[in-house]
This record gives sequence, C-alpha cells and structure tokens, in this order.
Amino acid sequence: MAFSPPATITEFAAAARKPFSYDLRHNSYIWFGLFWGIPIPLVTILYELRFLHSVDSIAAPLAIFGSPLQWFFLLHPLLFGAVFGILGTIRQEKENELRLRLRQLRDMAIHDQLTGLKNRRHFAHIFHDECARNLRRNETLSILFLDIDHFKKINDNLGHHQGDVVLKELGNYLKNQCRPYDTPVRWGGEEFLILLRATDEQSAVRFAERIRKQIENGISPALPCMFTVSIGLAEYRENDTLEAITNRADKALYHAKQTGRNRVVSWSMLQAAAQ
Ligand code: GH3
Ligand code: MG
Ligand code: MG
Repeated sequence: MAFSPPATITEFAAAARKPFSYDLRHNSYIWFGLFWGIPIPLVTILYELRFLHSVDSIAAPLAIFGSPLQWFFLLHPLLFGAVFGILGTIRQEKENELRLRLRQLRDMAIHDQLTGLKNRRHFAHIFHDECARNLRRNETLSILFLDIDHFKKINDNLGHHQGDVVLKELGNYLKNQCRPYDTPVRWGGEEFLILLRATDEQSAVRFAERIRKQIENGISPALPCMFTVSIGLAEYRENDTLEAITNRADKALYHAKQTGRNRVVSWSMLQAAAQ
C-alpha cells in the first residue's frame, strides 16, 4: 500500500510552496516568528562570549559561527519566521474559504435559485427598509403582483423543464425592466412581485400595462412558448404592513384572473368597480 502522509503535513508542504508564506509585507505571522526566534541566537551569542572574552584575539568572536549547531541556533529567527509564515498562509486560506462559503450561503439564503431574483423571505427585510425610506423622504411605493396565466398547462404540455425555462426568462425580463432601485422578487411558483420605489399607483399601472403587453408579444427567443400574465397592484398606505399591502395586490390579481386574465387591475380600480 502506498504511503500517504497525514493531511496536516501535506497541507503544510503545500503552503510552504506558496510565495505568500514569505511575504514580509502582508503576512504578519512571519514577523511574529522572527521576533519569537530572536532570543535563541541572542542567548547563543551571549553564552559563547562568556567563554571568549578572556581570549585576546579579534578573530575569536567569529568562533560563534564555528559549528553547524551554532549556525542552527543563529538562524532560528529565520526558521521561526518561515514556519509561522507557512502557518499564517494556511490560516489565511482557511479564512478566505470560510468567507467565500459564508458569502455563498448568504447569497443562497436571499436569492431564488432558479431565477436569481431575491426570494420572498428576504423581501420582508427589503420592504421594512423601503417603508422607513418612504417615511423619511415622504415618498410612496407600489407593489405589483404578477402571475403567469395557465402555467400548469405549459408544464403539462411541454414538461417541467420547459416550464422552468419560462420562469427563468420571465425573471430575466423583469430584472431588465426594473430600475436599479426597484426590487423584483420570485414570490413562489409562477408568481412574481415587484416593489416599485417612489411610484404611485397610476405610474405603476402604466408600467404594468407596458410589461403585460410586451410579455404577450414574446419577451425572448429562448422561450419555448408564448404566454400571458395577470397583474394586480396596490399603492402603499400610511402604516401599511407587508401583509396588508400584498393582500390588496393579491385581491386585485385575483380580480384580474376572474375577469379573463392577461389584465392589469389595481386595488383602487377594484374599489371603484365595487361601488
Ligand atoms: P392561473 O392562470 O389561474 O394562474 O393558472 P395556473 O395554471 O398558472 O396556476 P396553478 O396554481 O393552477 O398552477 C401553477 C403551477 O406552477 C403548478 C406548479 O406545478 C407549477 N410550478 C410551481 N413552481 C414551479 C417551478 O419552479 N417550476 C415549474 N416548472 N413549475 C412550477
Ligand atoms: Mg398562474
Ligand atoms: Mg399562481
């Protein structure tokens, strides 16, 4: 059976081959090693001088460098510097790896995997921040709920994978249509939500109508089929909670579905129709 060294030795040997292990400017561990190693040659020199001071010769102190054992002691700061530098490299690499994994985990926690849009869980934080901003700036915002019409049929006719392609393309499209400070979210299944910052209901209806028409006409050559969407929307009211505003947008969306789909309905249009 082939000999394989313990993992720590392999790790140490790999780090020893990396230039960062000896980078005096950036790897502070080396300095720690150097200073840690300094007392050893000092003690060696002092110890040797104790025996040499009586010898009357200029060359005598050079005897400190006379044997390999003394060289070994004299070079200890360098040795310690190198060892600590290598350990520092190992630690830094582990830290980098951990930071990267943490960033990936954070990303996964706030994004929807399929579309890359923010997910519903994270939206609660965004909404909270946006409400605070609203209050500060005396602005308003609107929430737009978008649901693909008869999406189940797309899945049934073309397969789940093609259904995923539709969701991905729609996600991309919505991201591109939004201004940088709006927030498109995959709410779940084939439902999307968009928070439109500093946008009143009228402007939100115009935006929703524009995207509804574009979606109806086809938004990407990569789409496996044409489809339409229904949109419900609601404008922020003072002291609104996330639940209250999404409820109103959801009711408007429900009305859009009930009245034939491929439509935009706002909460106030719904109220007006009810009177
Ligand atoms: P409506 O016009 O009333 O909205 O009808 P619909 O068929 O779009 O709505 P319904 O709620 O009946 O069906 C939604 C379907 O979306 C059912 C579910 O299997 C599918 N779905 C949910 N999430 C995903 C997903 O991530 N990928 C795919 N391909 N399908 C999904
Ligand atoms: Mg649907
Ligand atoms: Mg739905």
